Amino acid sequence: MNPALRDRWLARAERSMAEAGLRAGAARSRVVAVMAEDGQCLVGARDVVDRLRDRGAVGSQASVYRVLDELTSLGLLRRSLDDQGLAQYEIDDAAHHHHHLVDEDTGRVEAFEDADLEEAVIAAARRLGIELTGHEIVLRGRRPS
Ligand SMILES: [Zn+2]
Repeated sequence: MNPALRDRWLARAERSMAEAGLRAGAARSRVVAVMAEDGQCLVGARDVVDRLRDRGAVGSQASVYRVLDELTSLGLLRRSLDDQGLAQYEIDDAAHHHHHLVDEDTGRVEAFEDADLEEAVIAAARRLGIELTGHEIVLRGRRPS
Protein backbone atom coordinates (compact mmCIF):
# COMPACT_ATOMS: atom_id res chain seq x y z
CA MET A 1 0.00 0.00 0.00
CA ASN A 2 1.36 3.35 -1.06
CA PRO A 3 0.46 6.06 1.52
CA ALA A 4 1.12 8.97 -0.87
CA LEU A 5 -1.23 7.45 -3.44
CA ARG A 6 -3.83 6.78 -0.71
CA ASP A 7 -3.76 10.42 0.48
CA ARG A 8 -3.80 11.88 -3.04
CA TRP A 9 -6.74 9.72 -4.07
CA LEU A 10 -8.64 10.40 -0.82
CA ALA A 11 -8.32 14.16 -1.36
CA ARG A 12 -9.54 13.81 -4.95
CA ALA A 13 -12.40 11.53 -3.90
CA GLU A 14 -13.60 14.04 -1.28
CA ARG A 15 -13.51 16.87 -3.83
CA SER A 16 -15.32 14.87 -6.51
CA MET A 17 -18.02 13.69 -4.12
CA ALA A 18 -18.57 17.23 -2.81
CA GLU A 19 -18.81 18.58 -6.37
CA ALA A 20 -21.31 15.85 -7.23
CA GLY A 21 -23.38 16.79 -4.17
CA LEU A 22 -22.82 13.43 -2.50
CA ARG A 23 -22.80 13.63 1.28
CA ALA A 24 -19.89 11.96 3.01
CA GLY A 25 -22.21 9.59 4.85
CA ALA A 26 -20.80 6.85 7.04
CA ALA A 27 -21.32 4.01 4.56
CA ARG A 28 -19.81 5.95 1.68
CA SER A 29 -16.85 7.16 3.73
CA ARG A 30 -16.04 3.62 4.87
CA VAL A 31 -16.01 2.28 1.32
CA VAL A 32 -13.79 5.18 0.22
CA ALA A 33 -11.38 4.50 3.10
CA VAL A 34 -11.13 0.80 2.23
CA MET A 35 -10.61 1.49 -1.48
CA ALA A 36 -7.90 4.08 -0.78
CA GLU A 37 -5.81 1.38 0.90
CA ASP A 38 -6.93 -1.98 -0.46
CA GLY A 39 -8.02 -0.79 -3.88
CA GLN A 40 -4.65 0.41 -5.14
CA CYS A 41 -4.77 -2.65 -7.34
CA LEU A 42 -7.76 -4.79 -8.28
CA VAL A 43 -10.01 -5.93 -5.47
CA GLY A 44 -13.25 -7.91 -5.87
CA ALA A 45 -16.51 -6.30 -4.81
CA ARG A 46 -17.07 -9.25 -2.49
CA ASP A 47 -13.64 -8.67 -0.88
CA VAL A 48 -14.52 -5.02 -0.25
CA VAL A 49 -17.57 -6.20 1.71
CA ASP A 50 -15.40 -8.65 3.69
CA ARG A 51 -12.82 -5.97 4.48
CA LEU A 52 -15.52 -3.62 5.73
CA ARG A 53 -16.78 -6.41 8.00
CA ASP A 54 -13.21 -7.02 9.24
CA ARG A 55 -13.14 -3.36 10.25
CA GLY A 56 -16.35 -3.84 12.19
CA ALA A 57 -18.46 -1.94 9.70
CA VAL A 58 -21.79 -3.62 9.18
CA GLY A 59 -23.62 -2.56 6.07
CA SER A 60 -25.60 -4.32 3.40
CA GLN A 61 -23.77 -5.76 0.45
CA ALA A 62 -26.17 -3.87 -1.84
CA SER A 63 -25.20 -0.52 -0.31
CA VAL A 64 -21.49 -1.28 -0.76
CA TYR A 65 -22.06 -2.22 -4.40
CA ARG A 66 -24.06 0.98 -4.92
CA VAL A 67 -21.22 3.12 -3.54
CA LEU A 68 -18.69 1.28 -5.75
CA ASP A 69 -20.88 2.10 -8.77
CA GLU A 70 -21.15 5.75 -7.73
CA LEU A 71 -17.40 6.07 -7.34
CA THR A 72 -16.92 4.45 -10.75
CA SER A 73 -19.36 6.92 -12.35
CA LEU A 74 -17.36 9.78 -10.83
CA GLY A 75 -14.19 8.43 -12.46
CA LEU A 76 -12.68 7.59 -9.08
CA LEU A 77 -12.65 3.83 -9.62
CA ARG A 78 -12.08 1.60 -12.61
CA ARG A 79 -14.28 -1.46 -12.90
CA SER A 80 -13.43 -4.66 -14.70
CA LEU A 81 -14.52 -8.28 -14.61
CA ASP A 82 -12.46 -11.16 -13.32
CA ASP A 83 -12.23 -14.59 -14.95
CA GLN A 84 -15.55 -15.61 -13.39
CA GLY A 85 -17.24 -12.46 -14.64
CA LEU A 86 -17.36 -10.91 -11.16
CA ALA A 87 -16.85 -7.17 -10.72
CA GLN A 88 -13.52 -5.95 -9.45
CA TYR A 89 -12.39 -2.41 -8.83
CA GLU A 90 -9.30 -0.34 -8.36
CA ILE A 91 -8.73 3.34 -7.76
CA ASP A 92 -8.16 5.44 -10.85
CA ASP A 93 -5.12 7.65 -10.55
CA ALA A 94 -3.35 9.10 -13.57
CA ALA A 95 0.07 8.95 -11.93
CA HIS A 96 -0.41 5.32 -10.91
CA HIS A 97 -0.90 3.86 -14.39
CA HIS A 98 -0.20 0.15 -14.51
CA HIS A 99 -1.30 -3.10 -16.07
CA HIS A 100 -2.10 -6.53 -14.74
CA LEU A 101 -0.51 -9.91 -14.82
CA VAL A 102 -2.67 -12.92 -13.94
CA ASP A 103 -0.83 -15.98 -12.66
CA GLU A 104 -2.83 -18.85 -14.19
CA ASP A 105 -1.70 -21.28 -11.49
CA THR A 106 -2.74 -19.23 -8.47
CA GLY A 107 -5.23 -16.77 -9.98
CA ARG A 108 -3.29 -13.97 -8.31
CA VAL A 109 -3.25 -10.60 -10.01
CA GLU A 110 -0.10 -8.51 -9.94
CA ALA A 111 0.45 -4.98 -11.15
CA PHE A 112 3.26 -4.14 -13.55
CA GLU A 113 4.53 -1.18 -15.53
CA ASP A 114 6.45 -1.33 -18.77
CA ALA A 115 7.67 1.71 -20.69
CA ASP A 116 8.17 -0.22 -23.95
CA LEU A 117 4.59 -1.46 -23.76
CA GLU A 118 3.32 2.11 -23.33
CA GLU A 119 5.21 3.20 -26.44
CA ALA A 120 3.83 0.24 -28.38
CA VAL A 121 0.26 1.15 -27.38
CA ILE A 122 0.73 4.75 -28.46
CA ALA A 123 2.20 3.64 -31.78
CA ALA A 124 -0.66 1.20 -32.35
CA ALA A 125 -3.24 3.93 -31.68
CA ARG A 126 -1.48 6.15 -34.19
CA ARG A 127 -1.53 3.39 -36.83
CA LEU A 128 -5.23 2.77 -36.13
CA GLY A 129 -5.93 6.46 -36.46
CA ILE A 130 -7.58 6.83 -33.04
CA GLU A 131 -7.13 9.40 -30.32
CA LEU A 132 -6.15 7.28 -27.34
CA THR A 133 -8.19 8.00 -24.21
CA GLY A 134 -7.06 5.01 -22.18
CA HIS A 135 -5.97 1.39 -22.32
CA GLU A 136 -5.88 -1.68 -20.16
CA ILE A 137 -3.70 -4.68 -20.73
CA VAL A 138 -3.93 -8.02 -18.97
CA LEU A 139 -1.20 -10.60 -19.38
CA ARG A 140 -1.92 -14.19 -18.36
CA GLY A 141 0.73 -16.74 -17.77
CA ARG A 142 2.63 -19.17 -15.60
CA ARG A 143 5.94 -18.86 -13.87
CA PRO A 144 8.23 -21.77 -14.65
CA SER A 145 8.67 -23.81 -11.46
ZN1 LIG B 1 -4.09 -2.69 -10.69
